[in-house]
Amino acid sequence: MPFWKTEMTDIKSLTIEELKNEIKALSLPSFRADQIYKWLHKEGVTSFDEMTDLSKALRTQLSEKFDISKCLIEEKYVSIIDGTVKYLYKLNDGEYIESVIMKYKYGYTICVSTQVGCKMGCKFCASTLAGFKRNLLSGEIESQLHSAQRDLGIRISHIVLMGIGEPLDNYDNVIRFIRTVNNENALNISMRDITLSTCGLVDKIYDLMKEELPITLTISLHAPNDEIRNRTMPINKKFGVDEIIKACKDYYSKTSRRVSFEYTLIKDVNDTEQCALELAKKLKGFNCHINLIPVNDVEERGNVRSSEKAINNFCEILKSKGINATIRRTLGKDINASCGQLRRKKQGSEIF
Ligand code: SAH
Repeated sequence: MPFWKTEMTDIKSLTIEELKNEIKALSLPSFRADQIYKWLHKEGVTSFDEMTDLSKALRTQLSEKFDISKCLIEEKYVSIIDGTVKYLYKLNDGEYIESVIMKYKYGYTICVSTQVGCKMGCKFCASTLAGFKRNLLSGEIESQLHSAQRDLGIRISHIVLMGIGEPLDNYDNVIRFIRTVNNENALNISMRDITLSTCGLVDKIYDLMKEELPITLTISLHAPNDEIRNRTMPINKKFGVDEIIKACKDYYSKTSRRVSFEYTLIKDVNDTEQCALELAKKLKGFNCHINLIPVNDVEERGNVRSSEKAINNFCEILKSKGINATIRRTLGKDINASCGQLRRKKQGSEIF
């Protein structure tokens, strides 16, 4: 059961079946659960008082027993270049997380956080700098969509789990979140429009296959071999490059969903011609896609972006070897849209 520190159950993190059981335990008719579920997941209300078709007495009764997870907008940044919006949200227990909303031709995509902080320690990433605090409840991951939709008056159609945190390190709540947003009485977002990004927790990738969710899996690879990856991503000491690629091939055979790889280019670290050739060799014959991403500057990290020439060259080498590769357009450049940086700043000023 999803709990707050206060021991109150977060009603928004319950499945419809669990909610029905809770409602039954209160000797209430089952249709009340359907009403409440829609308020929480379709409307995205943040208080029981907004559930206007419930009696005042029932609303009071519910509020004494349950909490509703929510994301309050603490800060909001809008890119004047491309309209990308970045939010710093405050959670019920005072922790902060971030989301980014990007507009594409096919609709709005949200990049959601899955944890408060991250344990993975990737050397180029801002999210791990302020340490790991806790997992997000599924209701908190979902509330990121509701808060943005309500604030912007839009419908979000696509989700990428690429914000703060490692989604597969918060496995149960992430799966619960994916199933909930897909529910037709909730946001009804197609599984095919959901992308989960992982640094490569191989055991969890095998668990994910068994869920049979037609989502897209993307792997933050960032290096063609263990020598380089060990230096930039500590998790690689547990699950190496070859083991990850093998898991991706198994994922594809089992689900028929094409896996993609993210490859952040850092000058003189992983952007050489040899790296491109080695990567192409490792992925030869595998129907996948590589997203090349110019590294984002993170103040404390000292990352140096590869030159445009090196990025294009890297891409061309992959393509010439028959690998599907594209260079990702950078959105929200003027608002530091990559995640982890706002939380870090907020913590810096308030906590330390
Ligand atoms: N933990 C998950 C999801 C969050 S990170 C994962 O590792 O995939 C989302 C993506 O942003 C990952 O590919 C991550 O490696 C990348 N990333 C982190 N810091 C970055 C930076 N400074 N510049 C470019 N990409 C970065």
